[in-house]
Amino acid sequence: MENERYEGHVVSVKKDLVTFRIDEIDSMSKLLKKGRIHFDLTEHEPEQITGIQRRKAYSMIRDIGVAQGYEQSYEFQKLKVDLKESFCRKTGYASFSLSNCSKYIATDLISWLVELCFFEGIPFQFKDLVNTFDTERRVFLCLVHKQCTVCGQTNNVQINHEDTVGMGNDRKSLDHRNHRLEALCSYHHLELHRLRAKFFSNKYHFHGTKLRDEQLISLKLMSRKQMQEFDDFSSSNKYFLAS
Ligand SMILES: [Zn+2]
Repeated sequence: MENERYEGHVVSVKKDLVTFRIDEIDSMSKLLKKGRIHFDLTEHEPEQITGIQRRKAYSMIRDIGVAQGYEQSYEFQKLKVDLKESFCRKTGYASFSLSNCSKYIATDLISWLVELCFFEGIPFQFKDLVNTFDTERRVFLCLVHKQCTVCGQTNNVQINHEDTVGMGNDRKSLDHRNHRLEALCSYHHLELHRLRAKFFSNKYHFHGTKLRDEQLISLKLMSRKQMQEFDDFSSSNKYFLAS
């Protein structure tokens, strides 16, 4: 897609012999092994996109293209332009280049691409990205897209309520506002109850997340009217208990 760039910082200077430590030596060493030893050096602006960010963005654009069956480089080139345009429309950013945009735009673009992949069910090829992707955000996106948070399956996805010890099916357990929620397929939902929540979260490294009222409404998990009914019910109950 574009000339590879590498990033590093100066470790020592002895007259004209300058030693750099390179951030991602693995990909650079491929070129070195081919005998490519001449590089241009440019000073890095602290606020500018980093090499790792650029590689992540290109890697995700490539994944999206591959998922659509693209093979030719002009197809990927056009996809990059289209994706950047829809990102700018969505966020209000002015058009930018991945060679020198700010690192804040790059961060937002990568998050947007991750969400797009999530929405379209495109697997991430960039292994590190899964680790940098915020776990709570993943739990939230799985609730939004009704995917199992463990395996990504979209069939028979159920919403599990954490913190429901001994509540059974009573009214309180239907009030989603009181619980951390997570989307699980029936297999992993059963596994959660078999292992119990504590061991399940130790195994899969996530917990449910609490949603705000507006999020519950927009995901159609609750209506404003239901919330009002729960509130009326609990205040009338308090009154009943107090009298
Ligand atoms: Zn599952």
